[in-house]
Amino acid sequence: MTVFISYSCIIEEEWRQVKDNVVAVDLGGTHIRSALINEKGEILARAQRETLAQEGPEPVIRRIEACIRDVARGTEPVSIAAPGPLNPWKGIVHQAPNLPGWREVPLADILHRAFKVPVYLNNDANLAALGEHRFGAGQGVNDLIYLTISTGIGGGIITQGRLLLGARGLAAEVGHMILEPEGPPCGCGGRGHLESLASGPAIARRAVEEMEKGTETSITRLVKGNLSKVTARVVAQAAEAGDPLANSIFKEAGFYIGLGIANLLHILNPQLVILGGGVSKAGDLLFDPIRATAEARAIPSIKQGVKIVPSALGDDAGLMGAAAFVLEAE
Ligand SMILES: [Zn+2]
Repeated sequence: MTVFISYSCIIEEEWRQVKDNVVAVDLGGTHIRSALINEKGEILARAQRETLAQEGPEPVIRRIEACIRDVARGTEPVSIAAPGPLNPWKGIVHQAPNLPGWREVPLADILHRAFKVPVYLNNDANLAALGEHRFGAGQGVNDLIYLTISTGIGGGIITQGRLLLGARGLAAEVGHMILEPEGPPCGCGGRGHLESLASGPAIARRAVEEMEKGTETSITRLVKGNLSKVTARVVAQAAEAGDPLANSIFKEAGFYIGLGIANLLHILNPQLVILGGGVSKAGDLLFDPIRATAEARAIPSIKQGVKIVPSALGDDAGLMGAAAFVLEAE
């Protein structure tokens, strides 16, 4: 009898492990990455292909399918992190700035027909927030904000332990917070949005503006006088070497991100702010002015005890969040 019970327990445990694996896919503008992830957040297999986005939706979808096949072991559910705006309930990508030709693509439906498994689709920044909450820097924290600072600025909000989706699944577009009504134009058509003031391209643009005015800077030498080669990474490199212009540009970007965070603290009263994305890798150069501004501009009772920390999952935040989304849906 005892033997029988323990045997059945093992069977059940094995069955549960299979069921709780998820095939997560991160659809990016340059790479498609996939991973087989278990309920503990362990990555059991990985694959990656170039997106080659300029070829249009059809070939990109074939490559997504190949990435799924590379890591799937059976009939695991599939969960996609994609750039938005998209509809997470209908599984439709409305459009994607870095994926030419993507208009109202029913991605979840297409993949469901190909693999006959449940398919989930959600915004990559929202899922990154969920990934950090379940497996990363936000474990055990029920109210947190995640911001990704790279080519654009995106975000995700966890409130009372749940991902905030909004009425149409478009919540947490923190990059389009208006901080300077007459500020620089944003990719979305607006003006003075956080993204147009502090993203990677915004940092590069500020440097170029100053260089065109004739401001002395070591950036000129780093790009050998070619202004089209100025990137946020080059500006960070110059700032770390003590260049005053580069330092002031990072201070300015950090100031605007800090203002945005102060606004978010007032609205959402989180315990934690997590910063990810390529530009956040500049470290203290960006975190120091962000923390100083949030500290100076937020109401004392609301900012009390709030920590602003780097992402723990880095480039895997979207993949881990895609897995977490399925695990929480069950
Ligand atoms: Zn905008």
